Amino acid sequence: MVTLGQPSQQSGLGITQIDRGYANLGESKLHAPFLQLHQQGRLIDGHKFPLNETPIVKTLHWPDESACAAFAEGLALCPALSQAVVYLHGDLGAGKTTFTRYLLQALGVTDRIKSPTYAVVEPYEVNDGASVLAIWHFDFYRFNDPQEWEDAGFRDIFASPGLKLCEWPEKAQGILPASDLDIFLSVNLDGSRDVRLTSNSPLGQDLLA
Ligand code: ADP
Ligand code: MG
Repeated sequence: MVTLGQPSQQSGLGITQIDRGYANLGESKLHAPFLQLHQQGRLIDGHKFPLNETPIVKTLHWPDESACAAFAEGLALCPALSQAVVYLHGDLGAGKTTFTRYLLQALGVTDRIKSPTYAVVEPYEVNDGASVLAIWHFDFYRFNDPQEWEDAGFRDIFASPGLKLCEWPEKAQGILPASDLDIFLSVNLDGSRDVRLTSNSPLGQDLLA
C-alpha cells in the first residue's frame, strides 16, 4: 500500500492526505485505478457520483488500536452518524469489528459488543435521556440467501432511522442500500493499519468534512 505523508504531517486523527474531488488524481498512484469518467458521473470504488457532487477521500495510518480508537471517538461526535450507512471493507482480521467496537463504545454502548458473524446483525440502543439512537451492526460474511433479507427484516431495518454498520457488504451486493461512508482497512506487515475513507453521499461528506 502506498504510504502518503510523514507522521509529522499528520493531524490529531492521523489524517495523512485529503483529496477533494480528485483534483490531483493524475499524480496519485493510490486513487488512479479507482476512477473512471462516465458520461453521467464519476465511478469511484463502484459508486457513482453525479458530476456536481464532490466525494471526499481521506487516507489514514493507524499504528495501533489506540489510533483506531481515537478516530472512532472523533467520528462518534458527528451528528450525521446517527443516520449513516457505513460499509466496512477489509480481509478477515483487518479490524472491522474492532473499529465498530470502539465506535459503539464512543457512542455510549455499554453492552458487550459481539461480532455478528453468525447472527448477521446485532442491534444496540443508546439512550442519552433526550433521544434514543438505534445502531445496527451487520456482518454479511455468511449471508447467502436473498430471501433472508426479507425474512429477517433487514429491509425494515434499513428503512428505519439509526446507524447501520456493515461488515462484508460485498456479500450482500445488489440488495444492500448504498452507503454514505466506506471504510477500507488493510493490515501492514508490522501490524499497523492503512485506512481509506470515501464519502458516498452528502451525509457521508458531512462525516468526513
Ligand atoms: P475483522 O472484523 O476485520 O475480521 P477484527 O476486528 O476481529 O477483524 O480484528 C482482528 C484482530 O486484529 C483483533 O485481535 C484485534 O485486536 C486486532 N486489531 C484490530 N484492529 C487493530 C488495529 N487498528 N491495530 C492493531 N491491531 C488491531
Ligand atoms: Mg469482523
